[in-house]
Amino acid sequence: MKRSLAAGQELFHEGDPAGSAYLIESGTIAIVTHDEGREVLLSELGAGAILGEMAVIDAAPRTATARAVTDVELIEIDRGQIAERIDRSDPVVRSLLEGLLKRYRNAMSAMRGKVTESEDGFDNAGGMGKIRLESQLRDALASDGLDLRLQPLLEVPAGVIGGYEALVRWTHPERGPVSPAEFIALAEETSLIVPVGEYVLDKACQAIQGLHAGGTAPFVAINVSARQLAEEGLIDRIVVRTRDAGLPQSSVKVEITESLSLDYGMVAGVIAECHGHGIKVAMDDFGTGYSGMEHLHRLAFDTVKVDQAYARNMHASPRAMAILRNMVAMVHDLGADVVVEGIEEERQLDVLRELGVRYAQGYLIGKPQPLAEWLS
Ligand code: C2E
Ligand code: CA
Ligand code: CA
Repeated sequence: MKRSLAAGQELFHEGDPAGSAYLIESGTIAIVTHDEGREVLLSELGAGAILGEMAVIDAAPRTATARAVTDVELIEIDRGQIAERIDRSDPVVRSLLEGLLKRYRNAMSAMRGKVTESEDGFDNAGGMGKIRLESQLRDALASDGLDLRLQPLLEVPAGVIGGYEALVRWTHPERGPVSPAEFIALAEETSLIVPVGEYVLDKACQAIQGLHAGGTAPFVAINVSARQLAEEGLIDRIVVRTRDAGLPQSSVKVEITESLSLDYGMVAGVIAECHGHGIKVAMDDFGTGYSGMEHLHRLAFDTVKVDQAYARNMHASPRAMAILRNMVAMVHDLGADVVVEGIEEERQLDVLRELGVRYAQGYLIGKPQPLAEWLS
């Protein structure tokens, strides 16, 4: 929208709520502020300059007054046009922008003798906190700051431990243990997921060697996200690693974690590749989030892991119990095995026995622990 101002007319005044930003087509605008009643000229802007964008970006009130020096022609830029772009931008870029604005505003306030914000500018939440965490994760990878826990899966009918799930942990120098739910997502935003995956694979192979040395031959299941699956040669790396370690391919299982953007063609290819090497593939967290019927319908999973929400609710909610019972029957009909996660009580395990479920996983069976705990 076009606007015209006559010389001397104000476009906006210090303290006004943020409205639009403006692009000057022709003429000159003075940006002024007031210091103890005295007017201070901050700048003069001519054709092509943009003004008023700061207040629009962070929705703060105008920090200065804009007044036409000559007759001026402007184009008004709607607040929504800018806000939408900022909202869609990378969180790190957004954080940098907000930080710069805060610094600029502080400098202006200081100039007028009223410092309102701390000297060091913006906080480290959001995008910048993430960048920091990312470089710390990089350090952890280089300095043995990650470790692998193994959580046992009970073979229900036989009453023996059939295998373990590999769950990665990061002990952060200040924050302590950081949940993989947080840092795996972070690692996935960058290429860090590749070395994290390598680490898990290496440690899992060592664990299998240790466990098999005891005489039994349990499997170790590795979590792989959709982002990791998209990396070239993932399955080849698993095959090479296990072969080099002298382990049967069947001692590794792959768990595919839920994802909104599962590329069926690609995942079907990966599953076929796994099957070609005798590696079994499980679908994780079935019955919640994105892990649903479509995945089961289109992909040849060997195992389906029922999300722990069903174990948690099976006794309180007849509906949860009915869904669980039918999920188990359906998965069996497809010729796949069932794991029910989150088993914490004996009576939940009793239900799995009744339903003919093959594997139980949860704190009742065992918590995720370092390999050494399972060797003794
Ligand atoms: P998940 O694959 O569903 O793993 C099961 C999670 O449930 C684990 O949390 C485990 O500690 C927890 N859990 C197991 N039994 C019980 C129980 O009886 N009660 C309760 N309340 N919780 C139980 P964790 O280790 O924090 O892992 C969170 C998620 O992080 C995993 O969910 C998995 O999606 C992801 N993850 C873990 N390790 C890796 C990895 O090496 N690679 C990838 N890509 N993802 C991983
Ligand atoms: Ca899993
Ligand atoms: Ca799960």
